[in-house]
Amino acid sequence: MKQGRVFSGARPTGRQHLGNYLGAIKNYVALQDDYDCVYCVVDLHALTTLQDTKHLKEWTYEMVLDWLAAGIDPDRGTIVFVQSHVPQVTELHVILSMVTPLGKLTRLPTFKEKVRQQPDNVNYGLVGYPVLMAADITLYKANVVPVGVDQVSHLEFTREIVRTFNHHFGPVLVEPQAKHTEVPKVLGIDGVNKMSKSLNNHIELAIEPDELYNRVRMMVTDPQRQRRTDPGRPEVCNVFSLHKVFTSPETVRQIDADCRTAGIGCVDCKKMLAQNLADHLAPFRERRAQLATDPDHVWDVLHDGAERASVIAREVIAEVKTAVGLP
Ligand code: ADP
Repeated sequence: MKQGRVFSGARPTGRQHLGNYLGAIKNYVALQDDYDCVYCVVDLHALTTLQDTKHLKEWTYEMVLDWLAAGIDPDRGTIVFVQSHVPQVTELHVILSMVTPLGKLTRLPTFKEKVRQQPDNVNYGLVGYPVLMAADITLYKANVVPVGVDQVSHLEFTREIVRTFNHHFGPVLVEPQAKHTEVPKVLGIDGVNKMSKSLNNHIELAIEPDELYNRVRMMVTDPQRQRRTDPGRPEVCNVFSLHKVFTSPETVRQIDADCRTAGIGCVDCKKMLAQNLADHLAPFRERRAQLATDPDHVWDVLHDGAERASVIAREVIAEVKTAVGLP
């Protein structure tokens, strides 16, 4: 018996990286045991920041291929679909926008940040982003939403919209809870910023082993450790953080001790990490290559996902319209 419904969405950003995997996808996969899961490629959300939309289709394909290779499994009932294929979300967006005070949207720190990032493109959609996100989640009556810490304020916003809506129109929508992974923030190979494709500080899941070793070799370690003989501080080293995820606990303890006494150098430490990462990612790469032999498969999954998502969406939007009193 499943414990409820999970919903999560991610913008189509193409091949996924270790940050996406540890911060989101790993949870998407694990939650399939206990929940009915709905995972959405939020292509409409992507339009708020993209000037150039010609890669959307390719990036959707590459992202979903990674999701499936990582273990998101439609055969276990999981729904994977593209946001714009189930247009009821746009109807719900409009309805929810009527119970959303504009001032709340423009005061959100995430909105202010976007205005700073793209001052020449402060579009209407950007202001409404959290309302569309609320519509995404509530259209599927999700109880649980796995999100990164950066999305916490938006999720709180969704909860407020649900309370306001239900107060006005009756208990129709469900108030969702956020769920974070054990590694909510993965740093990039620069060791400073969040791992991100746009900063080119990322390591793709589908990376070739040789290229993987090159990327790991470029990783910034403890800046105070200049020479091989200097003792290091694992707690400030991003290579060590990744060892904690991909290396056995005894070896991690050994690396911790050896780094502090300069018993192991960064080069050897990185070689071990690259090897463990390559071993960890090998089955993923194999599944990805296998899935890629049939390019139609991804689109079939998304087509079937949209049909199954539509069944829920049609029911909920009808309930919402009735509650609101639309004729
Ligand atoms: P979106 O803008 O849709 O969140 P992203 O590609 O930025 O698209 O992120 C997709 C998912 O991966 C999100 O749940 C996000 O929290 C997570 N994520 C992205 N980068 C990182 C990172 N460096 N560390 C942890 N989680 C991350």
